[in-house]
Amino acid sequence: MKTIADAQIWATQLLTEAGVDRAARESEILLADCMRADRIYLMARPERVMDRESWEQFQGWLERRAQREPLAYITGKRWFYGLELTVAPGALIPRPETELLVECFLNWQSTKPFPLVHNGNLTEGVHQETPCLLDAGTGSGCIAIACLLNAPRWQGIGIDSSSDALKIARLNRERYGLSKRLELRRARWLETMEPHSIDALLSNPPYVRYEEWETLEPEVRDWEPLDALVADRQDPLRAYRELIEGAKHALKPEGLIAFEVGVSTAQEVAQIMATRGFTPQVEHDLQGLPRVLWSIAP
Ligand code: GLN
Repeated sequence: MKTIADAQIWATQLLTEAGVDRAARESEILLADCMRADRIYLMARPERVMDRESWEQFQGWLERRAQREPLAYITGKRWFYGLELTVAPGALIPRPETELLVECFLNWQSTKPFPLVHNGNLTEGVHQETPCLLDAGTGSGCIAIACLLNAPRWQGIGIDSSSDALKIARLNRERYGLSKRLELRRARWLETMEPHSIDALLSNPPYVRYEEWETLEPEVRDWEPLDALVADRQDPLRAYRELIEGAKHALKPEGLIAFEVGVSTAQEVAQIMATRGFTPQVEHDLQGLPRVLWSIAP
């Protein structure tokens, strides 16, 4: 039987040989998860002998990781905006840069006066509808869930064309007790939306160009859903065009439209927004790259 220290040395070597970056750190995360312990425990008790069940699970996980399956698909979870979310191969793994889209929404909604609230109750005689956000291409549900948990007056709709993604989104919705506030719907972009029915449209659509996708790390290229990641081959801006057209129809006046973009698409998406009457503003990620484009509907 192996000690924690032996297991870690073995795993780090295996992952290094498989070409995994940060092999020691990943070994530690996988080992801690198998042992249902935290990393501090591993550091404090390197001499402890692993029980058979944990060791077998660890070996299985290591084999998968050595095939370059993403860590998050193996452990089944990923942190996003301070929330631990369930992830699985049917949906994109939430990325840290997508948190900027959540922040963009939260900043904007904090400046909105609705609904009128007085001492925690709706002001008497004043009727205000609950504002509604739409997360188009919701995947794991990460954007909608992070927004709703931080904007308690809002409700939301998450749409996705993939029923596998929606299953994962449902798990996350239940996990955070949002079944009454978040509707999940199978649809293509904004096709099913009523006119002027939403106050904010958020989306992280597939924007990686096919040529770029071929050069990505195996974790992304070989394991994450192509439909969630790669833009239309003939018309890479198609998703944005459909979303912007849909927004003209579904968004209320002065509503928010906000998209995640890639470096290679930011300029062109801004142009499409501008030609459809929006005034795009850009937010940069921590690497200084354009990552979110947003605008208020006229
Ligand atoms: N940022 C992601 C990546 O580069 C792409 C996400 C997307 O296509 N929406 O892997």
